[in-house]
Amino acid sequence: MILQRTYARFREHIMKRGLLVVLAAAVLLSAFGCRSFILKTVMTTVEPYFHGPGIDGTQFEQLTDKVYTFRWNWYRNLIIVTDVGLVVIDPMNAEMATALKKELDQTFPGEKVHTLIYSHYHLDHTRGGAALSPIEVIAHEKCPTYWKEFEHHDVLDPTRLIAGDATLTIGGVEIRALYLGLSHTDTLYAFHLPSERLVFTADLGLVKSVAPVGVPDRYAPGYLAALNRVAALDFDTFVPSHFGYGTKQDLIDWRDMMEDGRRLAREAIRKTGLFGTHDNHHQMATYFDTVYFPMREKYGSWHGFNEMFILNLVRDIEGEALGH
Ligand SMILES: [Zn+2]
Repeated sequence: MILQRTYARFREHIMKRGLLVVLAAAVLLSAFGCRSFILKTVMTTVEPYFHGPGIDGTQFEQLTDKVYTFRWNWYRNLIIVTDVGLVVIDPMNAEMATALKKELDQTFPGEKVHTLIYSHYHLDHTRGGAALSPIEVIAHEKCPTYWKEFEHHDVLDPTRLIAGDATLTIGGVEIRALYLGLSHTDTLYAFHLPSERLVFTADLGLVKSVAPVGVPDRYAPGYLAALNRVAALDFDTFVPSHFGYGTKQDLIDWRDMMEDGRRLAREAIRKTGLFGTHDNHHQMATYFDTVYFPMREKYGSWHGFNEMFILNLVRDIEGEALGH
């Protein structure tokens, strides 16, 4: 028992220092351009988050009477069966959309994709829609403004732009598109299907998995407000755009985790000040101690906790320090 405890403490110490060393090494070496070392360090640290059993490959499943979901590696989208044809939310990319089309042709022979909806403008959610040949393509009105600044030839143009909350009734199915303001971009929608008691969100919530890379392009206060808005809806099934699906409680747990991350980051800054103002090594260790142990206690068993901890910590500290 004592041996076990000593070993656990030793491991903890190594892990803590180890993560700090990896981070410091990555920063230092990037300055000297040791690309292959950095790539290897980052990949071995982060790779298990994105790959593994139950993550790699594809899976097409029915969730409710009218709703199906398709998983392509760590991406997941939503398919809704209506009287006028199928509705797909997010094609993601050409490879995923092509694989989905094959599944749709098998499961619903002769059935067309009537409407493709983009959850937000991000290019990893909006490429490759042509493979689905939809009649209508719906997106937030600001999406084209962002696309034109990037290479986007494989993003199928919207046929209809929307703003604010919108109730899309397609082939007898009510799809409530909830506009989430500045949260994860300012083009983000969550989708509530009251008849199926189901919610689909893109890059907003996961099931027992920690956030990837601090959630890129996130305005933390707006993001939490968005989570709270979705958590207040009446539904049972929660389908996020990555990894597994779950229940409303999973979304609530995830909201709590994001809230805890911010609160602890704020506490860490209160304790030791903003980075670069005092002894950096001591500050880094204080940031780590203040956030790591309480977070590990609650979320240590979640997918990706070790792989993503430092990246989430840096994002939370930076966000609280700068105000974003
Ligand atoms: Zn996104």
